[in-house]
Amino acid sequence: MLIQGLKNIKNHMGSGKLNYFKLKQNESALVRFLVTDAEDPNLIAVYEHDLSFRDNPPFTATCIGQNCPLCAKGIAKRLAIYFPLYDKRDNQYKIWRRGVKFAEQIEGYLNKYGELNKRDYQIERKGTNIQNTTYNLYPEDPKPFEPDIEAFEELMINLKKSLAPRTKEELIGLVEGNDLLDGAIEVEIPDEDVPF
Ligand SMILES: [Zn+2]
Repeated sequence: MLIQGLKNIKNHMGSGKLNYFKLKQNESALVRFLVTDAEDPNLIAVYEHDLSFRDNPPFTATCIGQNCPLCAKGIAKRLAIYFPLYDKRDNQYKIWRRGVKFAEQIEGYLNKYGELNKRDYQIERKGTNIQNTTYNLYPEDPKPFEPDIEAFEELMINLKKSLAPRTKEELIGLVEGNDLLDGAIEVEIPDEDVPF
């Protein structure tokens, strides 16, 4: 199936259903990560292309690897890591999209505090702009938590659906049918500012 144009692709993807975890500057939230460690199958990482368009909001497309038309166009790709979590502010199951640096940060917590999902973490966002934004994590004491299996499964299904690679033809339609900003090439869009 050939889908042309950004709007059509977005409709086809049914994106927007996925509940993303966000923090504003100087905001904090108490969360329960829903993965044990780096080997947990619910911890998902994919290479992605962030695209900026002249007339459309930015768009993120999963890299299809070999024969990827976005790679062929020289558009930078980055590794995005998706952490499922339970946000205790509003009792919602959400996905937190992070980069490689954060994964390294998490590794430190794993080494020191063990399995991620055994305790709550207070997450605090600090910084005035994208370049200097950091997230501080404060582990609470271990406490049992039973996630709602159905809500968690639905979250993971929606995540996998939204990350499912498009066909080569769809990706070609995405870049050919829209006015790509010159700046989109080799420019990384910070994850906080990518609408889904
Ligand atoms: Zn690619």
